[in-house]
Amino acid sequence: MAKPLLRSLVPDRLAEVVAACGAEPYRARQLATWLYGYDALDWDELRNLPRALRASLAEGWDLQGLQPVERQVGGDGTRKFLFRLRDGQTVESVIIPMESHATFCLSTQVGCAMACRFCATARGGLVRNLEAGEILEQVAHLRRDLRADPVPGHGDRQFNAVFMGMGEPLDNWDALPDTLSTMLAPDGLGMSKRRVQVSTSGPGEGLRRLLELAPGTGLTLSLGGTTDEERKRLMPVPGRTGLAEVLELGRLYARQSGRRTTIAWVLIAGSTDGADQARRLAKLAAGGLFKVNLIPLNPLDDDRQAPPAPDVVLAFQGILDAAGIDTTVRLSGGRDIAAACGQLRRRREAGGSAPGKQDGGRPD
Ligand code: SAH
Repeated sequence: MAKPLLRSLVPDRLAEVVAACGAEPYRARQLATWLYGYDALDWDELRNLPRALRASLAEGWDLQGLQPVERQVGGDGTRKFLFRLRDGQTVESVIIPMESHATFCLSTQVGCAMACRFCATARGGLVRNLEAGEILEQVAHLRRDLRADPVPGHGDRQFNAVFMGMGEPLDNWDALPDTLSTMLAPDGLGMSKRRVQVSTSGPGEGLRRLLELAPGTGLTLSLGGTTDEERKRLMPVPGRTGLAEVLELGRLYARQSGRRTTIAWVLIAGSTDGADQARRLAKLAAGGLFKVNLIPLNPLDDDRQAPPAPDVVLAFQGILDAAGIDTTVRLSGGRDIAAACGQLRRRREAGGSAPGKQDGGRPD
């Protein structure tokens, strides 16, 4: 049996852990600094803690639950990581270098139960939820990677976190509240709410619980249809919640958080790229509480679905723009390294070798 991960505890509870080891209370703050300031992964790194305390902590807790097994760098600088968990399962995380900061794309589950037709993670169903510590440790590995190999022109600590890796965050209530709490806590990662984005396929129950939790972070709603039928066809499980209700919950969240909710719209040729859909989407997004991100499909290797041609993408965006909806096209980074969520893990499990550079440092 693996020990619990120390990062699965919210920072407030480190005091109990330290007390149980018979150490002075101020050691808790030092421990938090190692976990969330220096991203420690090995007990030996905790140099200002007495050896006896380290040994006693190590008896009850694990500091590392993820082993990096693959790192790929795409032509656009996107870095994709595959981690092996202590039970042998694997998850992916991505660093997307933006102009002034890095965005960390984090996984919340091994697999996913939402069964979205266009998503690689959905193919194997849900295996299990990640623990809070397993989600937070992805940040530790990604920050260590950036320290070892910085993106030129980027500052040190500023990164954004988006839950757009594998899994449905609003289907993992074992871990989401503590994960967010550690991310935002001053003695945790100390992130600003504005730098955290929860992305969801929008199961109604999950959205209602998020409203109760009221974390104040950003929310992205992956819509998948402008009618209930369209949505259900592409996103069978979240599609059980009616579109009107999903959008109403998205509006409530925007009011609660004081930030517009983002609608993520995956553009698939001949399926979600029609001018009529763009007009309906513009109506659904009207009212000032939503903005729209258009994501051309990152096609799966065994699928006939494809992204629309660039002029179709621009035309779709033009319709939303003309209706006064703030719309951005998000080119899915790292297409050459299979960076759409779940693709790397799938290729590896299928035994195929993934294209792209292996641990190649900065692309040339
Ligand atoms: N379950 C959450 C988070 C993971 S998916 C959610 O649905 O939001 C993160 C984003 O990637 C979603 O907006 C989803 O619609 C999008 N996505 C999934 N597969 C994709 C693919 N093959 N190409 C482009 N975008 C994809």
